[in-house]
Amino acid sequence: MSEEDPFSNALTQLASVADVLSIEPEYYETLKNPRREVTVSLPLRLTDGTSTTFVGYRVQHNNARGPYKGGLRYHPGVRLNEVKALSMWMTWKTAVIDIPFGGAKGGITVDPSRLSQDDLEILTRKYVDALERDIAPDIDIPAPDVNTNAQTMAWIMNEYSKLRGHNEPAVVTGKPIELGGSEGRSAATGRGVSICVREAVEKFLKKSIKDVSVAVQGFGNVGSNTVACLMEMGAKVVAVSDVAGGARAPSGTLAQSYEELLAASKKLGSVSKMEGVEQISNLDLLESDVDVLVPAALENQITDENARRIRAPLIVEGANGPTTPQADHIMEKSGTRVVPDILANSGGVLVSYFEWVQNLNRDHWSEDQVNERLEMKMKKAFNEVLDYSLKENVDLRRGALAIAVNRVVAAMRLSGWQ
Ligand code: NAD
Repeated sequence: MSEEDPFSNALTQLASVADVLSIEPEYYETLKNPRREVTVSLPLRLTDGTSTTFVGYRVQHNNARGPYKGGLRYHPGVRLNEVKALSMWMTWKTAVIDIPFGGAKGGITVDPSRLSQDDLEILTRKYVDALERDIAPDIDIPAPDVNTNAQTMAWIMNEYSKLRGHNEPAVVTGKPIELGGSEGRSAATGRGVSICVREAVEKFLKKSIKDVSVAVQGFGNVGSNTVACLMEMGAKVVAVSDVAGGARAPSGTLAQSYEELLAASKKLGSVSKMEGVEQISNLDLLESDVDVLVPAALENQITDENARRIRAPLIVEGANGPTTPQADHIMEKSGTRVVPDILANSGGVLVSYFEWVQNLNRDHWSEDQVNERLEMKMKKAFNEVLDYSLKENVDLRRGALAIAVNRVVAAMRLSGWQ
C-alpha cells in the first residue's frame, strides 16, 4: 500500500501499539476493521438541468464505549479507505478524550464548490434518507468536517426529524445555536488545538505562548479558529494558508487582529491574496522557520518526502492524519515533537458530546460553561498522554493511541465482546 493510503497508515499506527499492549488477537482483529461500512448511491437532478449520481459512505468503526460518532466530509477526494481511516481515528479520539462515544465517519465524493446551495441541500437530505436506519441519537451521530458546516447539520436534523415524525436535535451535533447547537461548538476544535499548543510549548519548548511563532496550514473551521485563539493567547501567527496558497510575514504578525485576517480572507477569497505579505505555497508553509507548526487542512501533508525539511520543533495536528507513519519515524529521530491528531483536535468531538448531552436534557449551557469544561478535559487528556509517554518512553502518538486502545479493549472485554 502507498504511503498516501490513510487506512493503511491507521493500521500501521495500530500495529505500533498492539505489541506494547499485548492485546488478545481476537480484539486486535476486531479493531483492525470497522464493524460496518455502508456505501450509498445518491442520484441527483441538479438545478442546472444535468443529472449525476454521487457516492456516499458511512463507516462505523467501533461502539464498545458508546454510540458511533464522527463527522461528515464533502470532498472530491473522498474514498472508502479514507473514511475507514477517519472512522478508526474517531474511535481513538473519543477514547483518549474519554467521552462515552465510539468512532464513525461519513463522506460524499463531491466537489461542493461546483454545486448550488439548493443542490447541496437536496444531496444532504438524500444522504440522510439513504442512511435513515444507520444514524440515530443512540446509534450514530454525525457532525461537521471538511466542507460541511452548521447549515449541513441543520438539513440533516430536519430530514431525520421528518422521517421520525418528531423533532430530534440529538441525531447530529455542530448544529446552529437556534436549532439546539451548543455555544462554543464552532470554535471548539481550534480552541482545543490552541490549548494543546500552549501546554506543549510550556512543556517541550520551555517558553510562554506569548513568545512563540506559529504557522497554520488551512483556514477553514479548524485552522481559522486555531489562529483566532492563538492570537488571543498572544502567540505570533506568522503564516497561514488555504487551498489556494499561503501568506507569510516572517518579521512580524500577519495582521493586527484575527478579525482583520478573516475579513481579508473573505474579501479576497483566499489568505494567499493578502497584500504586503510574502506569498508562499502550502509546501513552503510547512517548512516555515517557526516554533510551532499546525497542519489543519487534510491528511498526508508531512510525508517521507518533506519530513526532513520541517523546521518547527513542535507540530500540533489540527487535521486528521496530516503526518504519515514514515514521516513520524523521520521526525522522531530528529527530535521533533508531534502532538497527535487524536488528542490535539479532540476539542470538537468533546463539545459535540456536550451538545448531545444538552439536547438529551433539553438544556442550554453558556459559552463560559462550555469553554471551562473544554479547558479542563483537554488539559487532563494532554497530561495523561504526556505522563504515559514519559513513563513508557514512547512518543506522544503512541502514548495517546495506547491509552485509547486500552480503554476501548477494556470496554470490549467487560461487555464480553467478540
Ligand atoms: P474546512 O472545510 O472548514 O477547512 C479546510 C481548510 O483546508 C480550508 O481552508 C481549505 O482551503 C484548506 N485546504 C483544503 N485542501 C487543501 C490543500 N490541498 N492544501 C492546503 N489547504 C487545503 O475543514 P475543517 O473542518 O477545518 O477540517 C480541517 C481538518 O480538521 C480535517 O482534517 C478534519 O478532518 C479535521 N477536523 C475537523 C474538525 C471539525 O470540528 N470541523 C474536528 C476535528 C478534526
